[in-house]
Amino acid sequence: MNKLIAGNWKMNGSLAANEALLSALAQGWTAALQAEVAVCVPAPYLAQVAALKRQHAALSRLHLGAQDVSHQASGAYTGEVSAAMLQDFGCRFAIVGHSERRQYHGETDARVADKARQALAHGITPIVCVGETLAEREAGQTVEVVKRQLAAVIHANGHCISEIVVAYEPVWAIGTGKTATPEQAQEVHAVLRAQLKAASAQAERIQILYGGSMNAGNAAALLAQPDIDGGLIGGASLKAPDFLSIMAAAG
Ligand code: PEP
Repeated sequence: MNKLIAGNWKMNGSLAANEALLSALAQGWTAALQAEVAVCVPAPYLAQVAALKRQHAALSRLHLGAQDVSHQASGAYTGEVSAAMLQDFGCRFAIVGHSERRQYHGETDARVADKARQALAHGITPIVCVGETLAEREAGQTVEVVKRQLAAVIHANGHCISEIVVAYEPVWAIGTGKTATPEQAQEVHAVLRAQLKAASAQAERIQILYGGSMNAGNAAALLAQPDIDGGLIGGASLKAPDFLSIMAAAG
């Protein structure tokens, strides 16, 4: 299976900065690249990034992604962005259940599962984030936590589960510069793979990404693990040379 490298710009960017970043990505994009690549951008910039993709032929294989999606289809939900709206802008992916949303917006496992369901209903692949906090890791609860988070999505989405992407993002590694070792990450990815296999006959094709301070220096070793099928990249996705190096490491 091809690897997937997805950038998560978080709440960063501006019209000028996005234009510069995408034109640098276009310049550095090599035709031989096999990996799938996506950028998950703040909602107000979806139209701009879609237009820049059309402008730069080299970006024709770049996928557009969102960082969140509403758990509701439409209606009186001020501030929310629906899956249908993301579909209108050609979004291929939507991150759901990022730890920053779970932490700062109180998103529960059930809410994350509903978001995944909305995305799938509109042909958008949810990138379902799971991961333990440092306290949970130290208490030996890593496996229990990630399995509980993924189980909620599996339970709510039944056979559609083969259409999701999973991202294992240990919370203690996000934006901290602390990366899980390739072995630590692989151990959890193998648990997630087994859980997906028990739920779907097509689990082998579900991409399981690693996220948490992945960068140009550590990407190759992480991506060489048998159950690491790509990366969800925060900080390093904002710097074109770093993101291009990670793309190259994915092959
Ligand atoms: C993320 O936001 O999903 C992430 C992995 O961030 P960083 O790469 O900056 O740790």
